[in-house]
Amino acid sequence: MGFFFPFIGVASNGCLSVRWVAAELGRYERNVEQNESTYWLYFELLWREYFQWMLYHYGARFFRFKGIANKRPLTTFYAEAFMAWREGSTDFPIVNAAMRQLKHTGWISNRSRQLVASCLIHELGVDWRYGAAYFEQQLIDFDVAANYGNWQYLAGVGADPRGSRRFNLDKQAAQYDPDGSFVAKWLANEEPLF
Ligand SMILES: Cc1cc2nc3c(=O)[nH]c(=O)nc-3n(C[C@H](O)[C@H](O)[C@H](O)COP(=O)(O)OP(=O)(O)OC[C@H]3O[C@@H](n4cnc5c(N)ncnc54)[C@H](O)[C@@H]3O)c2cc1C
Repeated sequence: MGFFFPFIGVASNGCLSVRWVAAELGRYERNVEQNESTYWLYFELLWREYFQWMLYHYGARFFRFKGIANKRPLTTFYAEAFMAWREGSTDFPIVNAAMRQLKHTGWISNRSRQLVASCLIHELGVDWRYGAAYFEQQLIDFDVAANYGNWQYLAGVGADPRGSRRFNLDKQAAQYDPDGSFVAKWLANEEPLF
């Protein structure tokens, strides 16, 4: 580990070319060190590129309920469930903590994004596009391709041969927040956080 690459937000506003970041990463690997972090950064950049090209290729289909897979998910719009998710008052503390973090800071980690999306789609049965639209409104690093591509992927209507991605939220909480400090931090006080 120990690799630090200060280029957050590659995707969001186009001020930094992904080719340039990849070239700098390669230079770092050759001149300094190659480690697990450099491997994963390159790997994640590939995901970013993949979604950018998918959007370019599929156009409007990228935003449809049935996605690029043309498969109708068994979800719909429930206002109450959607509001509970948005406000962080579902039955899942790990999801509630992440949704409060998103609401108050405009950012959550990739793991949190996956968990809250899985919850909205697979536990609450809500149409994935409402979640994607809420992310679009909230995320400070919002990017059309990365956002809608990842949501489709989790809803099982993207280009994923394994079908939909449903996370066991209790298991994930035990693995990624074993001492409960993340949940405690964001659910400590109901209002206001700052
Ligand atoms: C439901 C959902 C919605 C998302 N919405 C967005 C969004 O609106 N904007 C956005 O930039 N990313 C989005 N992502 C992808 C990912 O969560 C963020 O890019 C990541 O959290 C950025 O943190 P980082 O810079 O520390 O990433 P690192 O892990 O350090 O990765 C380096 C770079 O690779 C790219 N990257 C990493 N993971 C992904 C991924 N899963 N898909 C596409 N690119 C990736 C990003 O450009 C990132 O800055 C979403 C993921 C999910 C599951």
